Amino acid sequence: MKSVIYKGPGEFTIEDRLEPSIQNVDDIKIKVLGVAICGTDINIFATPQKHPCRSGIIFGHEFCGQVVEVGSAVTNLKPGDKVIVDPHGPCGYCDACLAGWPERCENLYLHEPGFEGQANAMGVFKDGGLTSYTIIPNKFAYKIADDTPAELMALAEPLECCGYSIEKLNIHVGDTVCVLGAGPIGQLYTALAKANGASKIIVSEPIEYRRKKALEIGATRVVDPNKEDIVQVCMEETDGVGVDHCIEAVAAMLMDAIECVRARGKVLQCGHDETAVAPVRVGEVLKKEVEIHGVFLGKYYMAKAARIIESGVLPLEKIVTHTFPISEYGKALDLARSGQCVKVVVIPE
Ligand SMILES: [Zn+2]
Ligand SMILES: [Zn+2]
Repeated sequence: MKSVIYKGPGEFTIEDRLEPSIQNVDDIKIKVLGVAICGTDINIFATPQKHPCRSGIIFGHEFCGQVVEVGSAVTNLKPGDKVIVDPHGPCGYCDACLAGWPERCENLYLHEPGFEGQANAMGVFKDGGLTSYTIIPNKFAYKIADDTPAELMALAEPLECCGYSIEKLNIHVGDTVCVLGAGPIGQLYTALAKANGASKIIVSEPIEYRRKKALEIGATRVVDPNKEDIVQVCMEETDGVGVDHCIEAVAAMLMDAIECVRARGKVLQCGHDETAVAPVRVGEVLKKEVEIHGVFLGKYYMAKAARIIESGVLPLEKIVTHTFPISEYGKALDLARSGQCVKVVVIPE
């Protein structure tokens, strides 16, 4: 099986791996149909590295597939079913899981050197999806309609993160929203804000290709931050009040997000770069009584992600702009890094 293997900071190889077989009664074997490239993947390959990863694993966490075999205890799925995969399946027994916060599961991300092998996040610390067949526990697979295109199914994990977290903002019909960054995550939030009934969606993004896409997906105004000041634009668009909600999908623009929102406005910090530091004027936070929400993964949202994808309620087909065969993974990664795309999906053999 042609597989993309993470070899260490900045490095991967495409190697042949043996086809795995079911080991546990509740395992399923899936043929991988598509794997999306995530901003986290780009951060993992960045120099200096902006996200940890375990050397030697099959890379790629945003994957989906079709069931080819099920363990003897599996009753919810059968061969032929198409499934989206939760690559961050919680352990179920740590303090966070028992407190009802599976997205904060302590066993998903163990960063300390030497402990990465015990972390459960697929495609980051354990084998992931950039291969032909893989084995996963049945509880981390969610059935989706048979006629759903694979490249849209591959959006399930980022959609889970965005769909779950945007609910923290509680956007009402007519609200105004600013989105900082129009990469895949910023575009998903734009589509979700539109579906939630936002009257204005102002998107800041330096790359023209992505600004154009944001307009197709639901932005009412796009801003090139190299030419215009996003805070000023948000004020102009709201008669000097500020937007109701700002979604930070870059990583180091928290201060801009705080300045964009109205008094008692809400900020969602989802841009994820573990080296990013954003200075904040504390006076602005307290005088405005800004609500700042952190975002990490999604919670109990995968079944809903399946409904969203198969229903066509969001223009996801506009978000997947390119597909590549697995043999061209390097090209796919280079394109994703260049930003002249939105979501790039890799199709295994
Ligand atoms: Zn991801
Ligand atoms: Zn846990």
